[in-house]
Amino acid sequence: MKTKPNYEYGYIKVEPRGAGNFGLVSMSGIHYEDDSHLKDMVEDIKRHVDRVGNVEIHYDFYVCGECGSEYETKEDADNCCQPTNVKAEKIKSLKDKEV
Ligand SMILES: [Zn+2]
Repeated sequence: MKTKPNYEYGYIKVEPRGAGNFGLVSMSGIHYEDDSHLKDMVEDIKRHVDRVGNVEIHYDFYVCGECGSEYETKEDADNCCQPTNVKAEKIKSLKDKEV
């Protein structure tokens, strides 16, 4: 038998456009200050799209509030600049990205 997806668990991933993306015009260096644009999108999707079971906001990265390093989990980011932290592995720092 050929491999096939489990159709019962298929879902659709919706991503917002970047903060500086205005459709026809795109500007770099513009960043979202909070998650209000995501919350607005969730409400828009629920209001306008049929057959929606659940919509949730998901983050691929979390940023340490102290040093700006990025992690895949909130827990790792919380532990980043804690003295007890030893195992969390840094993915990349925001400072590296600015260059
Ligand atoms: Zn940190």
